[in-house]
Amino acid sequence: MSTQTAQSPTRQRTRSCATGLACHRCDHVYPLEEAIFACPDCGKGLDVVYDYELAAKHFSEVPAAARPQNIWHFEELLPIVDASAQARVGLHSGYTPLIRAERLGAELGLANLYLKDDSTSRPSLSYKDRVVSMSVARLLERGGTEIGCVSTGNVGTAVASFAAKAGVDSYVFYPNRLEDTKARACMALGAKVCQVEGNYDEANRRCRELAEATGMDFANITLRPFYAEGAKTAAFEIVEQLDWQAPPHIVTAAAGGTLSSRLHKGLVELQQLGLAHTDTTRIHIAQPSGCNPIASAILAEEAEIRPVTPETAAHSLAIGAPGDGYLVIDAVLKRGGTGGYASDPEIFAGIDLLAATEGLLTEPAGGTTIAVLEKLAAAGRFDPDEVVVAIITGNGLKTLDDHPDKPWPAKVDCELDAMLAALSELKAGPSLADSAREQLQG
Ligand SMILES: [Zn+2]
Repeated sequence: MSTQTAQSPTRQRTRSCATGLACHRCDHVYPLEEAIFACPDCGKGLDVVYDYELAAKHFSEVPAAARPQNIWHFEELLPIVDASAQARVGLHSGYTPLIRAERLGAELGLANLYLKDDSTSRPSLSYKDRVVSMSVARLLERGGTEIGCVSTGNVGTAVASFAAKAGVDSYVFYPNRLEDTKARACMALGAKVCQVEGNYDEANRRCRELAEATGMDFANITLRPFYAEGAKTAAFEIVEQLDWQAPPHIVTAAAGGTLSSRLHKGLVELQQLGLAHTDTTRIHIAQPSGCNPIASAILAEEAEIRPVTPETAAHSLAIGAPGDGYLVIDAVLKRGGTGGYASDPEIFAGIDLLAATEGLLTEPAGGTTIAVLEKLAAAGRFDPDEVVVAIITGNGLKTLDDHPDKPWPAKVDCELDAMLAALSELKAGPSLADSAREQLQG
């Protein structure tokens, strides 16, 4: 939109091997520096393409130990070419822990369960740090000074945070029914916030018009081809953290479909570079029952999404017309994965079970993943010894206000006998794990 071209000859180049923007439908390829986000010919989305031979060569030149432990660890396969833009974004993002989940695994009958913990992602405690880092780097590459986004919550906090660090102004457009704390966090980080009367899909359409009318870049609209590339880093990290042994199963929540479709792209790229054998990895997606257009299409083996009107407590998954849904269906079915969905009570039980067994507090999106993981495990979709990786995409501290109330303890006198009595009452009560188990296994 506004601003200059991406590659001026005087700028230092990263090791990125990105070569252009390819249309998802008609395969036309456009120059990487062009400021387009949809195919000028057919209107479909664009995807960054790379020179994989060059990437393999570049990759072998720098050993893993010499690479930064951040979002740029695999910079050959990321779309940012301007080294000065890259140097200003995401130096402490990415590389979240892969946690062996022995206690949750024991609950579910899985001996090798791992959690990719993006709930502790920097700087904004969700997987969206991966994608927004690419949008903001691209914005800087083009000389932009302001950025907008449409968000169900986590994109907004990521944009607010990355924009502040990069010194650009941010504008966050929220649909109604958002998780309130996330909007407050955006304002606390200095973003200008506008709540829009409409659901995510409506707000998204209007923001696209707003971007066209104003020329302002939007992290997840006009910068979308770059944004989407950030999601691949989760796949790269998971495989590297498992010592280049790709897991047989990855389970993740799906909303717009960016993460699950780009996990697939990342796995394909690792295989193309000869770094790991990844084509046997199955991707399974989790959605709320009240907004499951992708999971429904996968279960019915249909190639097209039927949009729905979301009705779910998992607000960050409430996207009824997922833009990348068709890519997810293709990726999941090609890989022999599946989809599943969970009701709101099951989603909150998933949150509780993860908390009680692994000490991680996630938001409803993560609860959806755990609830569906439980269902898939119970249905025998995994061999008990297979490695299963579940991605925890967001942090529950941001959504506590939306979780169902737990009985609040009565205040007792600050006096030994009263406290002894209170303690024995607490001990006799049900544990969090018990109530979660009961809800999930019914
Ligand atoms: Zn096209």
